[in-house]
Amino acid sequence: MSNLLKNVLADKAIHSITKFTTLDFPNRLASIFWFAKCNMACPYCYNPQIVRGEGLISLEEALNFLRSRQNRLEGVVLSGGECTLYPHLEALTCEIKRLGFQIKIDTNGTNPTLLERLIENEMIDYVALDYKAPIEKYEEVVHYRHVERFEHSLELLIRSKIPFEVRTTLHNDLLSVADINAVIQDLHVKGYRGTYYIQRYLHVEETMGNTMPPQNIFDRTKLLDLLPISFRN
Ligand code: SF4
Repeated sequence: MSNLLKNVLADKAIHSITKFTTLDFPNRLASIFWFAKCNMACPYCYNPQIVRGEGLISLEEALNFLRSRQNRLEGVVLSGGECTLYPHLEALTCEIKRLGFQIKIDTNGTNPTLLERLIENEMIDYVALDYKAPIEKYEEVVHYRHVERFEHSLELLIRSKIPFEVRTTLHNDLLSVADINAVIQDLHVKGYRGTYYIQRYLHVEETMGNTMPPQNIFDRTKLLDLLPISFRN
């Protein structure tokens, strides 16, 4: 274990742990570490308690959990919140790798510098990148100003060899067919050739922006046929 990680083992950066999932890391049995805090405020966010709350689980506890799952789980998803906000994520990924687990990160793409280092040093195995909204509407939807950081992350993932996916959460009253087509067009032009995942918003009572159930109809037959598209609930 690195000295840096030893010094921060007591950090309670993680809000909660999902002990087992077959759905969140492609072709891997995995657990999920939900990091507290986020730099966005997407109105439809299902996790306000994670975004606004404090971490409750120390790195030491999380690593001990993984030690108890060696040879039973294959991977760990670092999610949140926004895991790339945690300043010692790189040291943590080193230790998780040393324990023999593969790593997926779920990210909004606002920390391209860290993402690039993680890719170059082969500390992560899969990335799910949120493409929140078309560039011109980005700030309005997520309440975050630096869309260029997301664009940088997208471009470096497309240039890299790491497996990754791009996904958008669709709330029909926030994003129209024209908005999603703008995203599809941009992905196509930038050279993304993977599947584009559209995750339908499912109404829950508590969201970041107290979102209401969608009223608008979304006609998926009007989507551009430039990429493989998969809808998820
Ligand atoms: S949905 Fe938005 S606010 Fe919620 S964790 Fe993801 S980026 Fe942050």
